[in-house]
Amino acid sequence: MNVGMKGFKQLALWILVFFVMLMVFYNVKKMPLEQEIPYSEFKRDLRKGDIANVSVRADLIRGEYKTARAGIRRFRTLPLPDTKLVEDLESFNVATFSGEADRSWMTSLLINVGWIVLFVVLWWVFIIRQVQMGGKQALSFGRSRTVAQDSKKQKTTFKDVAACEEAKEDLMEIVEFLRDPKKFQKLGGRIPRGVLLYGLPGTGKTLLARAVAGEARVPFYSASGSEFVEMFVGVGASRVRDLFEKAKKSAPAVVFIDELDAVGRHRFAGIGGGHDEREQTLNQLLVELDGFETKEGVILLAATNRPDVLDPALLRPGRFDRQINVAAPDLNGREAILKVHSKQVKLADEKDLKVIAQRTPGFVGSDLANVINEAALLAARRNKHQVDLEELEESIERVMAGPQRKSRVITDKEKRIVAYHESGHTLVAKLLPGSDPVHKVSIIPRGPSLGYTLQLPTEDRYLVSKREIMNKLYVLLGGRCAEEIVFDDVTTGAHDDLSKATLFAQRMIMEYGMSDRIGPMSLKKKDEEVFLGRDIARGQGYSDQTAQIIDEEVKRILTDCQVKVREMLQKHRHVLDALAMRLVEKEHLDADEITALTNVGLSPA
Ligand code: ADP
Ligand code: ZN
Repeated sequence: MNVGMKGFKQLALWILVFFVMLMVFYNVKKMPLEQEIPYSEFKRDLRKGDIANVSVRADLIRGEYKTARAGIRRFRTLPLPDTKLVEDLESFNVATFSGEADRSWMTSLLINVGWIVLFVVLWWVFIIRQVQMGGKQALSFGRSRTVAQDSKKQKTTFKDVAACEEAKEDLMEIVEFLRDPKKFQKLGGRIPRGVLLYGLPGTGKTLLARAVAGEARVPFYSASGSEFVEMFVGVGASRVRDLFEKAKKSAPAVVFIDELDAVGRHRFAGIGGGHDEREQTLNQLLVELDGFETKEGVILLAATNRPDVLDPALLRPGRFDRQINVAAPDLNGREAILKVHSKQVKLADEKDLKVIAQRTPGFVGSDLANVINEAALLAARRNKHQVDLEELEESIERVMAGPQRKSRVITDKEKRIVAYHESGHTLVAKLLPGSDPVHKVSIIPRGPSLGYTLQLPTEDRYLVSKREIMNKLYVLLGGRCAEEIVFDDVTTGAHDDLSKATLFAQRMIMEYGMSDRIGPMSLKKKDEEVFLGRDIARGQGYSDQTAQIIDEEVKRILTDCQVKVREMLQKHRHVLDALAMRLVEKEHLDADEITALTNVGLSPA
């Protein structure tokens, strides 16, 4: 944290407040305690001669016992109309008794006014000042606790980030812009204002953002979304404003907001219609995003692991219009990350890192950094001069069990299942003539799904044939069918595939008229009707009987597909096995590798 002059003043203020409170407490404690007693008891004690002295006021009697009771000597009581009081005081040995003036109206006024003043001051400090921050009041209460890093001190570069080559490539453009914004603009390059980095926690999003600033040798300002969402309304918004102001002053610069989802969640989501403070902050963020010109040379980077919950307004053009996935590392990636982190550590054998990479599927960058760290500590504790495989292996377990682990571990069994599932998709896609080529397949978790198969169409298409939709269905079912064939069991992992497949089948029947039993009829409601509200567009627009036929047709299409996919996979089981085995080993296959593996074993279908 940057403890500048302002930080120091603020600290001094708080210390002062602390001491004042301490003094108040001390004085309160020092005040002799009094016992409140009923008047009857007072009179009884008086007659017993236990009372030493008394002072009488119209509304209160106070006095002292001759000997302390339960450690307390003083008492107080509310007086009753008692004409014999003075007489009794005289006759029962009370040493002194005196009258006392009523508390004057001045005193009570002062006390009351004092409370009001105190309240107003507190209110001013906590509320008004937050709002005034907009007027750039110099009191630094709502200032963002940003970290401004000197460009010379910001030493993180792309060399420190291993494994995310694609993300680095995408970010290189930003770096070039930041190095020389004017030159870049002359060439006519259009630069995104905001870049959203998304990916699992610990995959190196913050590290990448730092590296962008480091590569370009510009200052790096960072704040966390959760830090913006504070108790007092207006603090978050003023922090956002402040953050951008600082960055603009030292432009070109990088502003980084971690945990964007803490502020950027879909508005009106959640119970109670949203969170006022968060919404204000989000609005301020949108204002800043729209307000600054890229010409000023400020680039906003943000990170989240929940891109799905972000407010769509954030992702519109001109805002976070570039999104970069920072994926969890595959086998090679893990080895590269381990290498980066073992630079400061003396290893017995570089080759050990490969072994460790193989044993840590599912680990993300921060986990791997921890593995190296733990291993170094272990070796030191054992008085070794270098880190052996033994320590590295032991530290994997420590990290797995440890609290800092950011990712879930994938067991070998899970890995095999996911590999077969994805191989199923891939193989079916390969076997179908005219289906989109498989670009890559991976069993590295990405968001909620455990693996993915990426098919890219060769060209943009506006018209999709029945054949093509059927192909899509086959590919979707391929994953689940492979699991069934190999493990004689299915997992929950396929539910997304199934819901997609069902949707495709429904559309074929209801929208595109591709079912013979329904015929060339579109049963889809027009969009306008939906807009009018569900109350008006009551009913489905078709009979229950038709609805039943739709259900039957969906089921028939999907079951037919399933049968056909099973046949395909069974016939080419050896290729399925080869793909899956290679995937378990490498975790990630690209188009060439897939083609190589499938061409060898595929007899023409
Ligand atoms: P995120 O912001 O995605 O949660 P961080 O960038 O904070 O993750 O990563 C935490 C730490 O993990 C980094 O400081 C770094 O030491 C290590 N790390 C993560 N990813 C990588 C990577 N790709 N290469 C090298 N180190 C990494
Ligand atoms: Zn699938």
